[in-house]
Order: sequence, then C-alpha cells, then structure tokens
Amino acid sequence: MTDYPHLLAPLDLGFTTLRNRVLMGSMHTNLEERGDWNRVAEFYAERARGEVALMVTGGMAPNAEGGVFPGAAGLYSPEDIANHRIVTDRVHEAGGKIAMQVLHAGRYAYGPDCVAPSPIKSPISPFPPKELDEAGIEKQIADIATSAARAREAGYDGVEVMGSEGYFLNQFLVTHTNKRIDRWGGTYENRMRLPVEVVRRVRAAVGDDFIVIYRLSMIDLVPDGSTWEEVVTLAKAVEAAGATIINTGIGWHEARIPTIATSVPRRAFAWVTKKLMGEVGVPVITSNRINTPEVAEAVLAEGCADVVSMARPFLADPHFVAKAARGAARRIAPCIACNQACLDHTFQGKVSTCLVNPRAGHETELVYAPTAEPKRIAVVGSGPAGMTAAVVAALRGHKVTLFEEDEVIGGQLNMARVIPGKEEFDGLVDWFAAELSATGVDVRLGIAATAQMLSEYDEVIVATGVLPRDPAIEGQDGPNVLSYVDVLRGRALVGPRVVIVGAGGIGFDVAEFLVHEGESPTLVPELWREEWGVADPARFRSGLAPEGPQPAPPARDVTLLQRKAEKPGRRLGKTTGWIHRASLQMKQVRMIAGVNYERIDATGLHVSHGEARERPECLPCDTVVLCAGQVSERSLADALQAMGRRVHVIGGADVAAELDAKRAIDQGARISASI
Ligand code: NAP
Ligand code: SF4
Repeated sequence: MTDYPHLLAPLDLGFTTLRNRVLMGSMHTNLEERGDWNRVAEFYAERARGEVALMVTGGMAPNAEGGVFPGAAGLYSPEDIANHRIVTDRVHEAGGKIAMQVLHAGRYAYGPDCVAPSPIKSPISPFPPKELDEAGIEKQIADIATSAARAREAGYDGVEVMGSEGYFLNQFLVTHTNKRIDRWGGTYENRMRLPVEVVRRVRAAVGDDFIVIYRLSMIDLVPDGSTWEEVVTLAKAVEAAGATIINTGIGWHEARIPTIATSVPRRAFAWVTKKLMGEVGVPVITSNRINTPEVAEAVLAEGCADVVSMARPFLADPHFVAKAARGAARRIAPCIACNQACLDHTFQGKVSTCLVNPRAGHETELVYAPTAEPKRIAVVGSGPAGMTAAVVAALRGHKVTLFEEDEVIGGQLNMARVIPGKEEFDGLVDWFAAELSATGVDVRLGIAATAQMLSEYDEVIVATGVLPRDPAIEGQDGPNVLSYVDVLRGRALVGPRVVIVGAGGIGFDVAEFLVHEGESPTLVPELWREEWGVADPARFRSGLAPEGPQPAPPARDVTLLQRKAEKPGRRLGKTTGWIHRASLQMKQVRMIAGVNYERIDATGLHVSHGEARERPECLPCDTVVLCAGQVSERSLADALQAMGRRVHVIGGADVAAELDAKRAIDQGARISASI
C-alpha cells in the first residue's frame, strides 16, 4: 500500500499509457545549445530512471524568428534530428517517455527579427516585433507543424505546444497584444484562430498515435488578459482540434505577480486548474509550486487535475517519483524554488543546474563514484557546504565525522528559514538531516573542533563559514545597535523604527523579517492572493483583483541603506530580485543608496550623502541593524595549516564575498567527489 495512490496511478491515453501521474515540466537548460548530446541524453535518462511518467524538453524553436534568442536550439536539419534521436533512444532504454516542447516566443524572442500579431514591444524585451501578414502567419503555423513532425521523426513520444506564459500563441489570444482587425484579431473567435489552427495542423502532421499537449494560460495576470469563459472556450477548441492533454500555464512572463518563486505558496494555483476539470474530456495537468509527493497527492485527490507537472523538483532530485514510490519521501532532495541555479542561469546563458543538487545538468562530469580507498574524514561546520561535503563523502564510502559548534545543524540556513517567504529552507535542513542519518555520518553537535582533535583523521574539510563584517561605525557598540545574527536568531528586541546598514541579500531578508508580523502569507494562500492582488479569473478578467495588491500594513517603519550609488537590490537574483524589491516597496520600506555612515547615537543613525559627504542628516530610529556583509571564519583552517596539516577549506570559510548556498553546496560536493 502506498501513501500516494493517486500520484502513482497509471493514465491510459488510448494509444499509450503513462506509468503515473507525474510530468516533468519543460525547462530551458541551455544544454542543447552546448552541442554535447551525450550530456543532454544523460540529463533526461537520469530522470527517466527516476520513474517520472513523461518529460517535456526545454522549448525548441520552430524557426529562427521564433527562437527565444538568436541561435536557440530547434529541429532544423537531419543532423538535429539525429542528435535528438540520441536523447530519445537513451530515455526509452531507461524506460521513460519524452515529449518535445515547440516554443515560438513571438515578441518575447530576444532578437531583432521577432514577430507578433501586432507591433507592440514587450516590457521585458528591447526588440519591437514585426507585425505578421497573412503569408507570415501561415509560415509560422507551417513551421510549428513541421517541427512537431520532425520531433516524431526524432523518436519523441509527443510534443507540447507552448500556448501560455505570454508567448506567440498567447499573444494572439488577448487584446493586450493583438490589435488586428483581420480574421486573426477582433472577436475572440478570430483571436483564438491561430492557436486552434496550430493544434489542428500539428495533429495532422504527427498522426493519431502521438501525444500532443497544449499548454494553455489559465490565468494571464496581465491587463486585458483572457476571461475564464475564453479560457474554457479555447480548451474545448484545442481538444476538438486534436490535443491529447491540456497543461496549465500561470501568468505571463511580464506579469508583476510572482508565480513560481519561493515566496509563492505551495500549489498556489491548483484551484485555477480545478475550474477546468469537467469542462473538457482530455486529461488536465496542473502546475506551479508543487514540490513534495504529499502536495502532489493532495492536489490529485482533491480533483484539481488528472496529472501534476513539476519541473524544478526534478533538477533537485531526478528520483523524486521512485523515492516516493518506495516509501523514501524524506530522502527526496527538495526544490526550494529559489531559482538561483536554474532559471537565473538560463537567463545568464549558463547551463541550468540546481542549488540543492549540483549534479543536475552535470551528470556526466560530477559523479559520486564509490571510493576504492575509504578514509576517515572530518568535516567541521554544518552549514550547506559542510553538510554537502559530509553526505557526498559518506555516500562514496568514506567514514565521516561532522563537527558542529552549535546545538543544531544548518549554519546560515537556520537564519534563512525564519524569513517570511523562505519557509522552504525548513525542508532543506530536514533533508540534510535525513541524508546525514541515512549515509551514516557521525554528527557531533555542540563541539567546537580544535586542530588537536582532528589529528586522527586522514582528511579534514573546514567549512566553518563566516562572521559578520565589522563596519566600524562610530557608536555601533551602543544598546540600540544589533547584528543581523541577533535579530534573525531571535535574541534581541527590535524597536518600531529601524534603520538597516547594508542592502545585500541579508539586508533585504532582515527588512522582510521586520516588516511582517503574524502568519507568513506564503503559508496562507488567501493572504498571499490579497497581498499580490490575485483574483478568481471567473470574476475578474485575467485574474487581476480590481483593487490591486492589498498588503498588510508594515509591522515596523524600516529604512534600508547602502553606500554604493546603484539601485538597492540590483545584485539580488536575476529572476527574483524584482520580487524582493516589490515586496519591500509594498511595505513602504525606504531604500537609500549612496550614503556614508557618520555615527550612531541614541537619536539614530547620522549619514551624509555622496562622495563629497553632503547633506548630513540624522535618520531617527530605535534600532540600527548591521547587515554589512561577512568575512571568512578561518581560525581553524589557519591553526591546522600552521601545524603543517593539509586542509580543504570550502564555503564561506574559503571566500565570503558573494557567498550563497549555491556556491557552498557545489564546492562541498565537488571536494568530496574528488577525495
Ligand atoms: P552582501 O550581499 O555582500 O551585502 C553586504 C552589504 O553590506 C552591501 O549592501 C554592502 O553595500 C554593505 N557593506 C559592505 N561592506 C560594508 C562596510 N564596511 N560598511 C558598511 N556596509 C558595508 O552580503 P550579505 O547581505 O551579508 O549576504 C551574504 C550572502 O548571502 C549574499 O552574497 C547573498 O548571496 C546571500 N544571500 C542571498 C539572498 C538572496 O535573496 N538570494 C538572501 C540572503 C543572503 P555597500 O558596500 O554599498 O554599502
Ligand atoms: Fe529549485 Fe533552486 Fe534547485 Fe532551481 S536551483 S531547482 S529553484 S532548488
């Protein structure tokens, strides 16, 4: 008997059967563009071995003008087809199924040749699109259908037609982007002509026994988006045109409402997909912020969908389904929805990987092979770097002891987990605890390891982390000044008016922590919807609440400062920085750049502005919180090295600047893969 009867139930599609109800959603990994097809094949085969029922590839361009960026991968030549065949063969050998996503970006294509229904530039691209004429429209439809036929030739089990997220097909559907007055614009019947015709032509091109998924935007979250009636009309039309399955898209990329970030509640949009259940005969897939088998099972058991789509969770753990099926859910590495190593990498042109699992996308190169020569290894420090190093070394067969000065494991992760909107870090620490236990790491809490204590070990890995940087501001020893550590560890009372020194990741986190009180909206979906202005699309077009965002009033009056003149928060995550900034702006946090810290006294923080130290002023406050970055804690490493010991120094103890858990975990994994 399984805990996940709905999740693990097969799904009969008539001509083929899915082994369970889990789809790996499309992610652009940038792997195809690298041309190492063995690496691409291993990426997908590893996930097929993990028993996911069906995977969807990253978006493949149907033609040059529709590619997300110039040179985006697509199936253009016999050579492309042969390369994709390497992938599909490997997946089938592993017992999996794989569909290729056909993605025409329309006005989201990052290039001067982009095309769209109307010549309206998107707010997230510098390139104004060319308006298509009748022949141009016919070419796009034909290219998409040809691409689908080539996917079949390349051995795929199906295609997903990308019709959501504000891409080309979506752009025809709504007056936000379609101002045409010919048969492709105007009435809804005309606006949906192109997506429906695409599905019809794709079906005709691939035959009956081939999966055709249509990804349909169920809640656009942009002005002048679709009404619910239009969504249902389209769903029925694409079913009639030959779609096998309808997948859910949530929000356009240009929407100013977060849809997948870590602060979005789990399964935040399953209720939207549920509204479509019963309206169509084909299976319906739901998606967004589903990241545990419990949540996925509940979504299916409650009838929100027939299938769940998870994408990033399969970067974090390719064996998600297999572990759930054999009762080992605690060992599923959790996706914390941070975007730091996946989507942020995609937008930086790097290979997507995972903060939690640095093997993702690097399966052929970062291998945790059993060791032929087991050693006694001491790891000092149980932050993300140390825990990863300990687990990977133990997995490989080494005998590992992990020393932690604190009474609990987790290091800096324990500060992240108290921030409203970062609750997913709880699951990450829990997972590390499960892995340390399952791999037999000897965890010694409450012990500050000394160089002498470590003499019996063959190898020592020092992951002692960081210490807060001393900003050396006159008056910082006063009773009204706290370090972020005191605040986030709950060791100090903070007054109603706060000035924060430093606007890096931790300054933003501390601000978020201090402006909230009561329950975190991330844990209360109704509150979260109110805060961001998400409404029922059946009541309000596009799912936008007419009154807009309604955040709860801030719990404190907060000012966030930095010395650099640049916009505060500019260096936060590429795809999530805007959410942090918007969230604090909603709480009326003042952000001031280009300040000099002159002194602190009982009245507040005295600053001046600019290089010439002009406009001196006092920022009155009850509490000043120092978030001025960090320096490496290297005292143990230095002591060991002074004794002539060879040590491996990783994480913040190695380099504190720009430290994040992504680098720490990657470094921990790589060092232990090589010992
Ligand atoms: P940080 O990002 O390096 O920011 C340090 C801040 O302190 C900056 O605003 C810096 O700006 C200021 N500062 C530096 N030296 C100073 C000095 N001597 N006196 C006064 N101010 C000084 O460090 P952090 O905020 O401690 O974060 C540490 C790491 O954790 C980050 O690099 C980040 O990757 C990670 N983190 C990430 C997130 C996230 O949302 N992704 C959240 C939390 C933490 P000025 O020099 O211009 O004043
Ligand atoms: Fe999830 Fe973060 Fe990993 Fe991306 S990098 S898959 S969001 S945990």
